[in-house]
Amino acid sequence: MRRIDFIVIHCTATPQDTRPEAIQHYWKEYLKWKNPGYHYLIEASGDVRQLATEDRICNGVAGHNANSIHVSYIGGVVADNKPLDNRTAAQRNSMKVLVMRLKQQYPQARIQGHRDFPFVKKACPSFDARKEFGDL
Ligand SMILES: [Zn+2]
Repeated sequence: MRRIDFIVIHCTATPQDTRPEAIQHYWKEYLKWKNPGYHYLIEASGDVRQLATEDRICNGVAGHNANSIHVSYIGGVVADNKPLDNRTAAQRNSMKVLVMRLKQQYPQARIQGHRDFPFVKKACPSFDARKEFGDL
């Protein structure tokens, strides 16, 4: 089993109604990625899609993927790609349940946002994940 040191929170930086299939298509056909960007993708409805099993490596944060699990919600931007935490109540709830479960499974892992890694110039996930999940 691989060692998990980070549970990383992301947003897709797309409109909230973007279909998971469209995101997967973009990774595969445009970025030519062999692996998905995230293990879990949370739709506006709160539905959680698992895109990869947790033993696989996903492309969430360059240089930090070998020991990370990546969780993303669909959304996170408004017009002109301005960052905004626009998670629906259902997304917030699903994210909390999922992150709690992951933290139980990987108690040594730190929960943080994509933007909390060094040298990251993105706002992803458009909120302070360390603050929100700091008590888990
Ligand atoms: Zn990200």
